[in-house]
Amino acid sequence: MKRTHPYLNKNNLEHEIEEGNTVSLARAITLCESSKISDRKSANELLYKLLPHTGRSLRIGITGSPGVGKSTFIESFGKYLTSLGKKIAVLAIDPSSEKTKGSILGDKTRMEELAKDPNAFIRPTASSQALGGVANATREAILLCEAAGFDIVLVETVGVGQSETAVRNMVDFFLLLQLAGAGDELQGIKKGIMEMADGIVITKADGDNAKRSKQAQAAYQHALHLFQASESGWQPKVLTTSAIEKKGIEEIWKMIEGYHLFANKNNFLSKNRGQQNLQWFRESLDRQIREKIFQSKRLAAKIRTYEKKVMDEKVVPSKAAEEVVRILREF
Ligand code: GDP
Repeated sequence: MKRTHPYLNKNNLEHEIEEGNTVSLARAITLCESSKISDRKSANELLYKLLPHTGRSLRIGITGSPGVGKSTFIESFGKYLTSLGKKIAVLAIDPSSEKTKGSILGDKTRMEELAKDPNAFIRPTASSQALGGVANATREAILLCEAAGFDIVLVETVGVGQSETAVRNMVDFFLLLQLAGAGDELQGIKKGIMEMADGIVITKADGDNAKRSKQAQAAYQHALHLFQASESGWQPKVLTTSAIEKKGIEEIWKMIEGYHLFANKNNFLSKNRGQQNLQWFRESLDRQIREKIFQSKRLAAKIRTYEKKVMDEKVVPSKAAEEVVRILREF
């Protein structure tokens, strides 16, 4: 008789995850990252079974440019949270890893202390997929971590491209890490990202940098007041930290806890999650329809000819799309 690998026994996987087995959790996340049809089927079955056990964590997104101090902060913050008795999971989205090779989010050694903590689970980013696929897998990974009993899920991303928006759309609280810069504090920072943030933290507020960090804090706080109130009604806060000296960590947690209470009370949290699920569904639908279309070689070839025509300005793009949709009906 052919023996099934214990970790690939789908029934076991479900129960092992519920028991908090992190090896099984990691396997399940790998399953969700796969684009193989049979794996997708298993992943969907697993997620369906685990769904009643999901949703209970506080989901926190963390972003910031490379070198701002994300991993050092997550290490200190994570250790602080586990010292409070919380179980924390760290997931990452790094769309740049493919291009820049030396992935800044990919290796566990970045958070050595936290990686050794039995109450922490660190999952490097899923690479070699388009952002849409990675974002989908990360959303599923959040659910799996929740089913495994993690109280807090941190989703880390690097401040490039669309990944910040993707993470914003899957978390409850979005934290932006910034460095105190020389001169004009707000130079070079994208207004759009500041508008997405529920909190901004000025990192490396130690040594010579301590004073500048305080100045930066004031400048950011002032700038935030000029923005329209966020949908949640929450007024974003700006704090400073030194992850190396472990300063400001507790205050950051207090801020996030404060937000959690606030957004629970005014019902924004559940409303927001509902909206996020709707968006996830719509994005999945778009992606899967595209995938389905491209599974047909004939249709894919037809689309390529339209792509060429569009590039050569032989047809208006919107009209080309209409024609493809018309052809689709015949399939
Ligand atoms: P990431 O690329 O955003 O993950 O940044 P890292 O956490 O890898 O940090 C980049 C560099 O900044 C490393 O050399 C860290 O040692 C340093 N660093 C991080 N946090 C602090 C801090 O709180 N104070 C100081 N002085 N340096 C820090």
